[in-house]
Amino acid sequence: MAIRNIRVDGDDILRKTCKEVKEMTPRIETLIDDMFETMYDANGVGLAAPQVGILKRIVVIDVMDGNPLCLINPVIVSEDGEQTGEEGCLSLPGLSGEVTRPNHVVCKALDRDMNEIVVEGEELLARAICHELDHLDGVLYKDLVIDGLHRNDLPEED
Ligand code: ZN
Repeated sequence: MAIRNIRVDGDDILRKTCKEVKEMTPRIETLIDDMFETMYDANGVGLAAPQVGILKRIVVIDVMDGNPLCLINPVIVSEDGEQTGEEGCLSLPGLSGEVTRPNHVVCKALDRDMNEIVVEGEELLARAICHELDHLDGVLYKDLVIDGLHRNDLPEED
């Protein structure tokens, strides 16, 4: 395992659309392990493959609920409610801003064994799922902020 370099805002790769994963390979296994290690090293709660320069539809999320998630080819199949709160991103270090997200989402994906899973998230997990899935289509939370970005001296959240 290795810690990978996190791409920061301004890098074109963060604005590209990622490709679906067709099959698991040893390379992708390593990528997933590295993504978890990179996320934990940076004190994040989520990381998407394009943030480490790989244009594949893979995200890892750990909102410290004892259930780390690897979602491959994830799709949100339903959402409801609304929450507005501070969001940050490892690709926009030192910044945060208010974003409105659904309060509850249901997401279909493949796990690292390429089995179909359904993940349901509320509050922080719903926010993390939306944020990370946006990365797969080249969207950054700064595109969605309500009243602009501000400096944040707290550790990054996702
Ligand atoms: Zn992010």
